[in-house]
Amino acid sequence: MYGRYGSYVDTIVLPGNVTEIPYYLDGKVALVTGASRGLGRHFTRTLSRAGAKVAACGRSQDLLQELIGEITADGGSARSFPLDVTNSANVAATVQSVTKTLGPINILVNNAGIAITKPALDVDEADWDTVIDTNLKGVWLVGHAVARAMVENGNGGKIINIASIASTTVLGRASSYCASKAGVTQLTRALAVEWARHGIQVNAIAPGYIRTDMNKEFFESPLGDKVIERIPQRKIGDPADLDGALMLLASDASRFMTGSTILVDGGHDAS
Ligand code: NAD
Repeated sequence: MYGRYGSYVDTIVLPGNVTEIPYYLDGKVALVTGASRGLGRHFTRTLSRAGAKVAACGRSQDLLQELIGEITADGGSARSFPLDVTNSANVAATVQSVTKTLGPINILVNNAGIAITKPALDVDEADWDTVIDTNLKGVWLVGHAVARAMVENGNGGKIINIASIASTTVLGRASSYCASKAGVTQLTRALAVEWARHGIQVNAIAPGYIRTDMNKEFFESPLGDKVIERIPQRKIGDPADLDGALMLLASDASRFMTGSTILVDGGHDAS
């Protein structure tokens, strides 16, 4: 069975006897947080290419509108919704509005995140709260609101949290980020255990370094070259390097997985 877009998504449905496995996401509704830039923008495009109706959620409506235009021109289906993952009232309203506009949510990609890099002794309370509120509490707030809607709808669903190699590997001058991402991995496991009874799968992707706005400057510096030397594959990833893990966790191919974190890091964590 060939896909419609001639993209990477096609290549994972070709090998082996997979024609009966419904990898495609036709008719599914997916919500992506932090969709305006970087990985979230890419995830939104990938899911829409696989046939999902995607709610591209974030704070920068201009950037989201531009993305929706690109997806629509590509034949996909997506709508933008305003969302600040640290604001519980906004999260509840957005989940309600997505459900009303696109239908019950089947897939959530909890992607929004930030990093503040400073020596641990210089981190102040505001830095700490910003990182933990966005990366950990935000994942819980959106996951919790979407899971409640999934339980109400009775069809279960798939929650994909974006963790990091920082969940298990210490990255320099990023103590709050490391703590937040370790929390995301363990929260993924705890929610997976509790919500399995509702047919909700909760898994995570832990990317290694992937080139986005979050780290572009760093990887253009000599220090960035030094980090690349320590990665076994001697390179950092592109957002498309996460497509395989994303499609696995978003599709029925992952039907017997929950509480898992998939590392996609060029061997960084193992080194
Ligand atoms: P990015 O800075 O390019 O994009 C982050 C997105 O999150 C932006 O759209 C931003 O507006 C949004 N965001 C931040 N705070 C928000 C809030 N309060 N409410 C709603 N949206 C908010 O970063 P990225 O590299 O695309 O990172 C995406 C995710 O992937 C993050 O969770 C990050 O920790 C994780 N990650 C990235 C890498 C990497 O190397 N790029 C590696 C591991 C994990």
